[in-house]
Amino acid sequence: MPSTLNVAKFGGTSVANYLTIQNCADIVIKNENTKVVVVSAAAGVTNYLVLLANTALTSEQIAEVIEKIRIIELAILNELKKPSDVEDKLFALLDELEEYARHEEINFRDDLKDALLSMGERMSSLLVAAIIREKGCHAINFDVRKVLRTDDRYTQATPELETIGKLAQQLLLPELDKAIVVTQGFVGADANGKTTTLGRGGSDFTAALLAEALNASTCEIWTDVIGVYTTDPRITDKAKPLPELSFEEAAEMATFGAKVLHPATMEPALRRDIKVFVGSSKEPEKGGTWIRRNCEHEPPFRAITRRKDQVLVTVKTPKMMYAQGFLARVFEIIAKQDLSVDLITTSEIAVSFTLDNPPNSISEKMNKDTLKALSEICEVKVEHDFDAVTVVGNNMHSAAGVSSKIFAAVSNFNLRMICFGANVHNLSFVVQDKDSEEVVKVLHAALFE
Ligand code: ASP
Ligand code: MG
Repeated sequence: MPSTLNVAKFGGTSVANYLTIQNCADIVIKNENTKVVVVSAAAGVTNYLVLLANTALTSEQIAEVIEKIRIIELAILNELKKPSDVEDKLFALLDELEEYARHEEINFRDDLKDALLSMGERMSSLLVAAIIREKGCHAINFDVRKVLRTDDRYTQATPELETIGKLAQQLLLPELDKAIVVTQGFVGADANGKTTTLGRGGSDFTAALLAEALNASTCEIWTDVIGVYTTDPRITDKAKPLPELSFEEAAEMATFGAKVLHPATMEPALRRDIKVFVGSSKEPEKGGTWIRRNCEHEPPFRAITRRKDQVLVTVKTPKMMYAQGFLARVFEIIAKQDLSVDLITTSEIAVSFTLDNPPNSISEKMNKDTLKALSEICEVKVEHDFDAVTVVGNNMHSAAGVSSKIFAAVSNFNLRMICFGANVHNLSFVVQDKDSEEVVKVLHAALFE
């Protein structure tokens, strides 16, 4: 019998407070196929935890940040009809949080950081389960670390799919007959049982991984927007919500800067053909975007995304005789750092590519090492202050007039690098960051308005 199981994930703004969690609980209860609920930390909490993890703070400052988190969590607790049901557990979690936050090595040990970062999801799953129970449905809070096995690259862990599949079948599946299972996004555990996290925004990825492990047929991502838009509605109010997207288009969009989904979310969905829905938990009646294998329409232009904080790296070997094997050596260095290069152009002796470089990020740290290693074998030029703009669509390589339409629209801007993606779903270029908003606007007008 084909599965009807649905995994529903609720983001930070959806579980921000008692009232917003009411909407989530209603959405869960209304769909009898929803047996697994994955939650993020309440909005703002992970940012506070990151602050505690990464900054050397005085004892008073630590107390202040923890107080901000307590206020958010206790506001939810105190609205519960029977706070006493979960009060002890929530206080125990807050104590655990404080213990990590005050650990003298917290700023230096990534394993401790992950233990601390996981607290937001561990608290919100407890509270969300309690609110679903209040509405008369049996719900339990399940510790995702029992099943979500990862490697031990703390703060940016990679899931181990086979083990997750086995553990989920063994330990999670039997629970679904008994109750609605509420569990934590973003969090995992390594083979020694130590807490790991999947990187910021990782809860979407968790939902897709659990959907895959449990053979679900659908995975809903509930957030604060009514689906995926033709472009970021903050850039232009002409942006329109999209009723459908293909897996490939969604993956391109997430990779190239659309903030709605964590970029890895589409991988499990694609592997198992799980349909993914994106909608707003505040306005579920407005519908949302369905992401699936076969779309009704495959237009040449679907959406425009922008990715900020790109650095443009050009490497050049001065000696032609090294040209052979040069590319291989460049890529070896990049691969060693586990960087993914999305935009690249090559000539015989020079290669240009972009690196994602958000300030204070893990990638910024890795980029430094990469550039150092590269400068040992060749000339390296690094330029900052670029954004990448990507048009996502279908058959962009072959359809006549597709690229000319794009280039006509942006002819007034200086495009630094132009790339067709390795597949047929994207065309990207790199522009000065001061121009990127305008570039997106004129493109949107030309392609969608
Ligand atoms: N709470 C984590 C974050 O803010 C994970 C997530 O929300 O997806 O990054
Ligand atoms: Mg998120």
